[in-house]
Amino acid sequence: MSITFTDEQQALAAAVRDLAARECGTREQRDALTDGGTEPHNPELYARVAELGWLGVAIPEQYGGSGGGMVDLCLFLEETAYGQIPIGSFAVTSIVGGAYERFGTEEQKQEILGGITRGAVEAIAMSEPEAGSDVGALRCKATRQNGGYVVEGQKTWISEAHLADHILLVCRTDDSGAKHDGLTMLSVPAGSDGVEIRGIDTMGGRVVNDVFFTDCHVPAENLLGVEGQAWGQLMAGLNVERLIIAAQSLGFARRAFDDALSYVRERKQFGRPIGSFQTIAHRMADLATELECCRLLTYDVAQKVDANPGALFPREASMAKLKVTETAKKVALEGMQVMGGAGYATEYEMERHVRTTIVSTIYGGTSEIQREIVAKTLGL
Ligand SMILES: Cc1cc2nc3c(=O)[nH]c(=O)nc-3n(C[C@H](O)[C@H](O)[C@H](O)COP(=O)(O)OP(=O)(O)OC[C@H]3O[C@@H](n4cnc5c(N)ncnc54)[C@H](O)[C@@H]3O)c2cc1C
Repeated sequence: MSITFTDEQQALAAAVRDLAARECGTREQRDALTDGGTEPHNPELYARVAELGWLGVAIPEQYGGSGGGMVDLCLFLEETAYGQIPIGSFAVTSIVGGAYERFGTEEQKQEILGGITRGAVEAIAMSEPEAGSDVGALRCKATRQNGGYVVEGQKTWISEAHLADHILLVCRTDDSGAKHDGLTMLSVPAGSDGVEIRGIDTMGGRVVNDVFFTDCHVPAENLLGVEGQAWGQLMAGLNVERLIIAAQSLGFARRAFDDALSYVRERKQFGRPIGSFQTIAHRMADLATELECCRLLTYDVAQKVDANPGALFPREASMAKLKVTETAKKVALEGMQVMGGAGYATEYEMERHVRTTIVSTIYGGTSEIQREIVAKTLGL
């Protein structure tokens, strides 16, 4: 198996690296763009990335994108994460865009996919206080009324809802059957009456929100796909969702690795660079090997999805999400260890890499849930 990128893909990656070097190449620039590392999404820079045409990397041309596939999207996510370009909303926006591409009406695609290429942020609301890993247990309810829906309930952990144009709400329209039946996707403009968004403080800064729906009226035409079929619609997006998280985590991991490598080459103890001690050199060699495995796995799955976009790859996509996010977390924590006290100090960015990567094994389905999925494919 080999990974070869086309000339266009290599040119895109090089252009992203150029932008990263120009706009985010120094600690001062990165701090200014992210309010000291607390805001992973910078709206002005996001608008400029939109103007460059990059946000439509995997959106079909008829909606304003450049019509790329998963390999293109993964490459873009990896390079933007590696370059620490603060466009934190792009990953979840891409996940949501995929759902509209698969199930949207022509009008919805024009509005949402076209909006994404122009810089709109999109959020998705599945999780609830009592429905996390067991997302099928969700209770937020939409009732048919006056030809539309009225929504009541609470969502939690909703990434970027505070920046989003719309929230793709997964709610219950029928509770008479099995828990995975009767779920429905509604596209709710984030500024609708009856939507309240409250930020949740986290160690990663300002990212996630509680979202409350109170007597929130949603027009019938905002239904995405088929009423009662949201579970199947969610499953159809899992390849893409897991690959997006894997590719972004690969970029974060490579950045943490390179920062640690620079440090262990420079820092001297006992009269020599600490990277020359075998214990540290071998640790770095192990991490480099794991990163290469992650890269191969991510792009192998992306190539499979591009070759067969209608197929589901639950085992491969879960393996990629599991392996890359666990490796990213490991690289950042090992990076902190090999940097000694400096790894823990905010003067360096390793502690920021730890805060960024540590949660990647939780969102988008925890590592335990990914292992459950892989284990099922082994007949366990
Ligand atoms: C930063 C961040 C961003 C997020 N963004 C979004 C978003 O945009 N939209 C959205 O809808 N949700 C989002 N989430 C929610 C995320 O998907 C959930 O946090 C995740 O699915 C886990 O749910 P939970 O937090 O309720 O943990 P729980 O489900 O309570 O799990 C707690 C622990 O129990 C384990 N566990 C649970 N069930 C099992 C099982 N059957 N077998 C083995 N172990 C199990 C879990 O793996 C975990 O270790 C986000 C979360 C975070 C932290």
